[in-house]
Amino acid sequence: MKVLLIGFSGQLGNSIIKNKPQNINLITPNRSELDLKDGESCYEFIINTKPKWVINAGAYTSVDLAEKNPQICFKINAKAPEYIANALKKTGGNLIHISTDYVFDGNQKYPYKTNQKKNPLSVYGKSKSNGEDAIINELYNKKNFYILRTSWLIGPTGKNFTKTILNLHKKENDLRIISDQIGSPTSTISLSNIIWRIISKHSFICQSDNSNQILHWTDSGITSWYQLALKISEIGFKIGLIEEPKNIIPIKTTEYKLLAERPMYSVLDCETSENFLQFKRLNWEISLNRILESIKEKKYNQL
Ligand code: NDP
Repeated sequence: MKVLLIGFSGQLGNSIIKNKPQNINLITPNRSELDLKDGESCYEFIINTKPKWVINAGAYTSVDLAEKNPQICFKINAKAPEYIANALKKTGGNLIHISTDYVFDGNQKYPYKTNQKKNPLSVYGKSKSNGEDAIINELYNKKNFYILRTSWLIGPTGKNFTKTILNLHKKENDLRIISDQIGSPTSTISLSNIIWRIISKHSFICQSDNSNQILHWTDSGITSWYQLALKISEIGFKIGLIEEPKNIIPIKTTEYKLLAERPMYSVLDCETSENFLQFKRLNWEISLNRILESIKEKKYNQL
């Protein structure tokens, strides 16, 4: 089966490649072949290659820089998905588009359901929300797409919180980490497995229920960045990735000025998606253990 992966070099893209089933012919175009800044190039590439599935794990993900570069961020996160969906309308291929908890404002204190009203706070969140809407508009009435929202992605490769904390232990004496933003960390390994599960089960699940175009998938459990940093240090030290654990000091969001506003509570309710996909989520601490073991054993090519 031919599958086009957009964003192959990202942290999620890397895990999608690593966990690819054997029967998949995975196409991973470089920028000169497909550039998300140029919607036409996405459209043309899909029309020419006619993949059975497109996985869009590509995005403008620098949440703070996006505040300064909204145009480029909207081109990549909102306009490109419209072109991708438009091309798939013509070829009849299927789409898994990765989206984010940042489409919500984080003002509620219980997990967000897939059908809840969105209210993004940042340029990045708005661009991702517009990307979702564009896909739904283009593919309305078709059951050939999934918008898969996730949160707090961490993995063995790429730029992410786990690797940042490991590096900070080498450089700093004290780590000051935000303790009042609450969410669910998600391993790129877990997410890539569920992406391949959706693809392998699509013909079965779309017949059994066709009202699940938006899915939520995170690892289970709820925590703060501070608690996550403590766990990374604890496990990292235990398995020898950290030589000398440093002090981790909890701070408030207001003490750490960033350009983009983040949701204070962005837990996604995954129950409907768990039932739909007939799969139980892993707890984030188990996932974190696996990530740190993978880093230790250098199982992934380090990006
Ligand atoms: P990364 O930043 O690690 O990777 C982004 C990918 O997009 C890279 O492969 C990058 O290529 C590619 N890309 C960026 N600009 C372009 C372009 N103009 N043309 C083609 N490709 C481009 O992202 P993640 O793996 O962390 O994120 C994957 C998805 O998950 C995204 O949709 C993101 O919005 C979503 N998400 C991420 C979360 C997180 O915590 N990181 C949380 C929730 C959702 P290159 O390497 O060449 O720049």
